[in-house]
Amino acid sequence: MIEPDRRSFLKAALVGAAGVSLSVTGRAFGGPAPDPIVATQLSDNLVQLAGAGANVVALTGPDGVLLVDGGLQERSGDLLKAVAKLPGGRHVHTLFNTHWHWNHTGSNERLAKDKVKIVAHENTKLWLGADFYVDWEDRHYKPRPKAAWPTETFYTSGKLTAGNEEVVYGYLPRAHTDGDIYVFFPKANVLVAGDLVSVGKYPTLDYCTGGWIGGMTDASKALLEVANAQTKIVPGLGPVQTRADLQAQYDMLSTMKDRLIGLLKKGMGTDDLIANPPTQEFDAKWGDPKLFLANAYRGLWGHVRELGGIV
Ligand SMILES: [Zn+2]
Repeated sequence: MIEPDRRSFLKAALVGAAGVSLSVTGRAFGGPAPDPIVATQLSDNLVQLAGAGANVVALTGPDGVLLVDGGLQERSGDLLKAVAKLPGGRHVHTLFNTHWHWNHTGSNERLAKDKVKIVAHENTKLWLGADFYVDWEDRHYKPRPKAAWPTETFYTSGKLTAGNEEVVYGYLPRAHTDGDIYVFFPKANVLVAGDLVSVGKYPTLDYCTGGWIGGMTDASKALLEVANAQTKIVPGLGPVQTRADLQAQYDMLSTMKDRLIGLLKKGMGTDDLIANPPTQEFDAKWGDPKLFLANAYRGLWGHVRELGGIV
């Protein structure tokens, strides 16, 4: 079984090359070349597909393919071409949305046409159907077509079997957004974390749709309980991470949460915070802290009561 998998892996990588040639047309109109879709085998039947705007994980099996996340809408065609090259990839039966962000839900429209089951937290469905403004992006989001909304939502956790593989999923409240889920494949020991895990940049706290640093800290801790030292952790963007990487994220968030609450209680304003970032020992690993700090601070204001009040 190794050979067909390897062949399909190579084919999937070649679709990336097709993506580049398609981009020649894009460049003729002045658009930048999109990234190729790059496939990485995670186990016998799990493949990570990068380059569609967010990591996508495909579980292949005799009854077709299960996808976790769908990338950007404008990359959906290239992504699904890469998926079609995988064993059983012409039939996608299930799609998970780890949260509502459009670079994770961009294949919903296409796959909904094929009656694919779309599984997400109930809040993800609500955001996909809503009209709202995200001020830190200065972006107005219009409702997505009803046909593209998740068809099966849940509030806490669930399990399903695809092929011979058990798939376990769970909700981690109010972290990156208010609808984040992880999807865990126990047999392969692969944990798909969406944007609950960040690589090379501070985690995004989308406080406009329910994210905040307290929830992100708790989510990192909860994921540490799912993973062991051998677990392959697939982040929303970037390469596979280890439990040690996740521990580093938890340690940073936990320290920064306490530090920011202290500064908020002392009455430090957002401008002062950005001018004197209290993140120095973390910046080498996590990069520019400005957006993280601004969003963390704004998010904290929404949780003042549970922080014991601020005079
Ligand atoms: Zn996101």
